[in-house]
Amino acid sequence: QEDIFKKVVAHAKEYGYVFQSSEIYDGLSAVYDYGQNGAELKKNIRDYWWKAMVQLHENIVGIDAAIFMHPTTWKASGHVDAFNDPLIDNKDSKKRYRADVLVEDHCAKIEGKIEKEVKKAAKRFGDAFDKDQFLATNPRVVKYQEQIDGILKRLGKSLENEDLADVKALIEELGIVCPISGSKNWTDVKQFNLMFGTKLGASADSAMDLYLRPETAQGIFVNFLNVQKTGRMKIPFGIAQTGKAFRNEIVARQFVFRMREFEQMEMQFFVRPGSQKEWYEKWKETRLKWHLSLGFGADNYRFHDHEKLAHYADAAADIEFKFPFGFKELEGIHSRTDFDLSSHEKFSGKKLQYFDPELNESYVPYVVETSIGLDRMFLAIFSKALQEEELENGSTRTVLKLPAVLAPTKAAVLPLVKKDGLPDLAHKIIEDLRWDFNVIYDEKDAVGRRYRRQDANGTPFCITVDHQSLEDNTVTIRHRDTMAQERVAIDAVRAMIKEAVDI
Ligand code: ATP
Repeated sequence: QEDIFKKVVAHAKEYGYVFQSSEIYDGLSAVYDYGQNGAELKKNIRDYWWKAMVQLHENIVGIDAAIFMHPTTWKASGHVDAFNDPLIDNKDSKKRYRADVLVEDHCAKIEGKIEKEVKKAAKRFGDAFDKDQFLATNPRVVKYQEQIDGILKRLGKSLENEDLADVKALIEELGIVCPISGSKNWTDVKQFNLMFGTKLGASADSAMDLYLRPETAQGIFVNFLNVQKTGRMKIPFGIAQTGKAFRNEIVARQFVFRMREFEQMEMQFFVRPGSQKEWYEKWKETRLKWHLSLGFGADNYRFHDHEKLAHYADAAADIEFKFPFGFKELEGIHSRTDFDLSSHEKFSGKKLQYFDPELNESYVPYVVETSIGLDRMFLAIFSKALQEEELENGSTRTVLKLPAVLAPTKAAVLPLVKKDGLPDLAHKIIEDLRWDFNVIYDEKDAVGRRYRRQDANGTPFCITVDHQSLEDNTVTIRHRDTMAQERVAIDAVRAMIKEAVDI
């Protein structure tokens, strides 16, 4: 699995999807740049989300709030006091870790043992193997599972009670060693705030301390009344936004899964108090459907309902995705109560209430939020789309099976040879199509190699222009996923691509 992940990272670089930031200066940790193809794929994912969430919902509108916000925002939201990670240092290696992640990694190792047992048993029992029954009854596996559950429960409790001494005690009891030095010589656990600070204003005394926003949601909350009034919105309604967020993450590995600068796509849905449970369930279902619409298969997704809730939530769940390194959070759906709006009321002294004409009363609405990381979504799609296929003739091909709607380039136009007027006709076709789609021209190498290049690039269609094209105005369309080829009239190409890339 590590191998697959390495291939994903290498492929993303080789085909102009993702580069390490400031690479010529040896990079900046957990910061990445999107290349010519990555920027297109990212934009297409953002558009796909925006279309589903804003364009197709009569009662959801989108905004674009600034990254800088008044510093009191982050007091009201709870980020100044509570947006912390518990950190621990190893005294020998001088390396810093997130204490909760060390414990979770330890549990993942126990989970690895369970997987080993499952594999062994599957081999032993062959077709008769019943995995669920095995997991529920095998004494060794049950014991491992109990261990994991016990550890995570204790970790959750200590974090919830801010009992950092117990988190340290847990690490010591489990005998967790520093992955670098192998030593068990740990410092105490300390809280570390994840927000990046900066200053507004030129002179030292008049400068104002600001934060780079750690989430886009607050830009929506502070604009709640502006949008509600100017848009004459009636509850229930939603406000959506996409944009950059910044977190000084400590465990910054796993490529674009966890970055210090990343992009979020969030929607806050404002509802009548008391109806939040119903909307929460509805948004869970709606968001899962959105993911499934991309066609990667339901077994790649699962819900993780939170038992331990953040201070603002009365229900929360993650949609987890099967990344190359296992199931991990891709999107969060949170029932945030009236926490945010009420808190902004308190700190700003301004009323943030809605007059409900049906009830003939004013109230602070409750909020159900859907929050997804664009970069994480990018990684989910990219890693699942990247495949190596064995072909009938024994060779293999690397193919990036991106959903056509998201592919950076929809078609490549390839003249069979570089002469006889074929390049001219190819360019003519491109000029015609480029008003609707990203289309590229490629005349280098034999056509088979060009097909492979486009496979690896994720281009769903290759349009080959040959001598027959000059006579009857037809071209060969070659499909990326099936490698099937068909003869199509040039006039019909646009409609064919359009049908494939339409949502
Ligand atoms: P995690 O537990 O993985 O740190 P979180 O629970 O802190 O995530 P939220 O605050 O709920 O995440 O943010 C919503 C979404 O934003 C997440 O589901 C994820 O897709 C994305 N996200 C959060 N932090 C990062 C990051 N550092 N890099 C990339 N995406 C992120």
